Amino acid sequence: MTANGNAPGNQDLSQQIRAIKQRLGSRLVMPAHHYQRAEIVALADFIGDSYRLAKEGAAAQADYIVFCGVRFMAESAAILARPGQKVLIPDPVAGCPMADMIEAEAAETILQSLDKLCGQTVIPLTYMNSYADMKALTGRRGGAICTSSNAAKLLTHYFAAGQPVFFGPDYNLGINTARQLKLPAAEIFRVARDGSRHGLVLDADPAKARLYLWDGFCHVHKRFKPEDIAAARQRHPGSHIIVHPESDEAVVQAADSSGSTEAIYKAVATGQPGSSWIVGTEASFVHRIAAEFGDRLVLPLRESYCFNMARITLDNVLACLQSIESHESTAAKPLLHLVQVDEAIRSDAAAALKAMIAIVEGPALVQGGRS
Ligand code: SF4
Repeated sequence: MTANGNAPGNQDLSQQIRAIKQRLGSRLVMPAHHYQRAEIVALADFIGDSYRLAKEGAAAQADYIVFCGVRFMAESAAILARPGQKVLIPDPVAGCPMADMIEAEAAETILQSLDKLCGQTVIPLTYMNSYADMKALTGRRGGAICTSSNAAKLLTHYFAAGQPVFFGPDYNLGINTARQLKLPAAEIFRVARDGSRHGLVLDADPAKARLYLWDGFCHVHKRFKPEDIAAARQRHPGSHIIVHPESDEAVVQAADSSGSTEAIYKAVATGQPGSSWIVGTEASFVHRIAAEFGDRLVLPLRESYCFNMARITLDNVLACLQSIESHESTAAKPLLHLVQVDEAIRSDAAAALKAMIAIVEGPALVQGGRS
């Protein structure tokens, strides 16, 4: 296997994928998340973190989007798709345990309790890593979606408007962003993720809270510990340790810096030849950037993988593309793993995604065919 994942069998599959991509030309676009396998990234039309993929996916003119990532990402692309544009995911089983940790119904119940508790409407700010029904609830309640690259900007936006915020599903991104914004501890209120009671954990006086955090987590980032950082500092003195903000607060505090996947990529890319980096995020991404920037030392803080991201393979990408060609020749042949979102949910979820893009980039950059 080479750095690009080009084992002999893979080369044949890659060639077949390239041939179909060439035949379909601009009618097909294939985005891939940074955590995808190297051989998938090598074939992608663009790569990025969930924010970049949502923004560029919305601008894509292609008839088909074959989305190499987990299901909530492909769903977001389908939510923002133009009329007639089809989004396919090579493996629909590629889910996200964190996204499963919040359900719209439970969130609605908790939001109603919070409205009463603080005597005003609490705005949901929902991490991209959530499913369409949760995004739709966010849109219906006038909130927005955020990603790890823009959570601080969105929280600042709502706080400046005097609005309390319910943030979910990732507790760590919420608390790390709150620390970055120097929000006093007394203003942060943790909401227990408990399917039976949806209880509130009174970490603070609810009357004074401005930020309510759901307590979901990403198991990939939860594995990093402050001891990993101490060990890395001993083994590789002088290295820069950078971690993703889905890591525990103690890990973020112990690291030299933290940032979204895109920010981590840029930090390493702009690093000096000979520089040394210890990276606390999904390990296949870390190994890929280590191969890309061979004149720098780039090591994972710990080997922690997202097995859902790894479900996308050359085999299932090829099957998806073949289904497009079959469908083109005979419309009766179905597209494989077409991502469909109920229209009632889609339009509210689109409002939440577009609210994010409008707040981050300004209204002029909001694109996409439907409201
Ligand atoms: S890395 Fe974590 S948050 Fe991202 S898809 Fe995998 S489980 Fe979900």
